[in-house]
Amino acid sequence: MFPAENIEEISCMGFFSGIIDAFTNEVGIDLGTANTLIYVKGRGIVVFEPSVVSIETRTGKVIAVGHEAKKMLERTPGDIMAIRPMKDGVIADFEAVGKMLKYFLLKAQDRKVIKPTVVIGVPSGVTEVERRAVREAAELAGAAKIYLVEQSLVAAIGAELPISEPCGHMIIDIGGGTTEIAVISLGGIVVSKSIKVGGDKFDEAIVQYLKRNHNLLIGETTAEEIKKTIGSASPLQEVLTMEVKGRDTITGLPKTLKIDSTEIREALQAPLQEILDAVKQVLDETPAALSADLVDRGIVLTGGGALLKGMDKFFQHHMKIPVIVAANPMACVAIGTGKYLDFLRQHKIGQIV
Ligand code: ADP
Ligand code: MG
Repeated sequence: MFPAENIEEISCMGFFSGIIDAFTNEVGIDLGTANTLIYVKGRGIVVFEPSVVSIETRTGKVIAVGHEAKKMLERTPGDIMAIRPMKDGVIADFEAVGKMLKYFLLKAQDRKVIKPTVVIGVPSGVTEVERRAVREAAELAGAAKIYLVEQSLVAAIGAELPISEPCGHMIIDIGGGTTEIAVISLGGIVVSKSIKVGGDKFDEAIVQYLKRNHNLLIGETTAEEIKKTIGSASPLQEVLTMEVKGRDTITGLPKTLKIDSTEIREALQAPLQEILDAVKQVLDETPAALSADLVDRGIVLTGGGALLKGMDKFFQHHMKIPVIVAANPMACVAIGTGKYLDFLRQHKIGQIV
């Protein structure tokens, strides 16, 4: 048996020459900045909850995890803290992530504690220390065997792209903390880039915009709601409006304001441009033959950010390449991690029994 360490190194290059036993208790985990998803082989996605943990400050005891904890964000009294332990695609609070994963894994397994083999997607370019933190958090949560794999690769598997062919595919995964861009061919990543711009930056941009232009102070949860309801990356067929409640920064009093989608689109331009620049850089570094494939095959969008209205049109307009949003974009990484070991077996990449 090869240690997970070796498997991780080799499989990230899309080539695997070790032996993986056909473990039945295989679980794929998408440990995202915004959401954690767990896919259990044979059952599909069994956990899809926000990556949020509420902790009692004095004792460090976990009060709530996931949906319950998210409701507490920005609304906790002094002795309770609701935190997002993942930041920018990596672990910001190791202990909280360990506890959160343990809770989700127990939930995923109907409280029967069976030591699972887990595959976890990690952003490209994470440091060895960051990888070790993910592995150790999974160990803490009860995983018996852990494989780490590049998130873009599993996003592509989850989006059902035929990535084992000798043909270029581009995948852009826009999450909460990061955007992962990769060109994949022959089951491996050819060029990739990860930037710390995603849905969280969109929310921040909305907060700043309303403060600057309307003296209205809102929290990030409200900003996220605005983004999902009337936010867009490219012009919509009709202008959408929404009433927003916040605090007037001048009077300090509560204030309600009607805002429209044109303003929110303007607010989102800066982070959208950052993503676009990164995509262009990846294209610049892509070998010519593979870029030619992209013109035919198009770009596939995954992650929650792909659900922003007009996101496909935005890239299509600026890149002049067809762009499609994957079916169920928020689940692609989880599905891909859940199917990863089978993918290796099926494509007979190396000796797998
Ligand atoms: P992560 O992998 O970082 O956990 P996800 O892929 O789960 O992220 O996506 C979460 C992000 O997607 C959040 O920033 C969320 O606000 C955003 N999101 C979810 N649904 C929508 C939507 N309908 N429109 C715009 N953004 C959305
Ligand atoms: Mg993600």
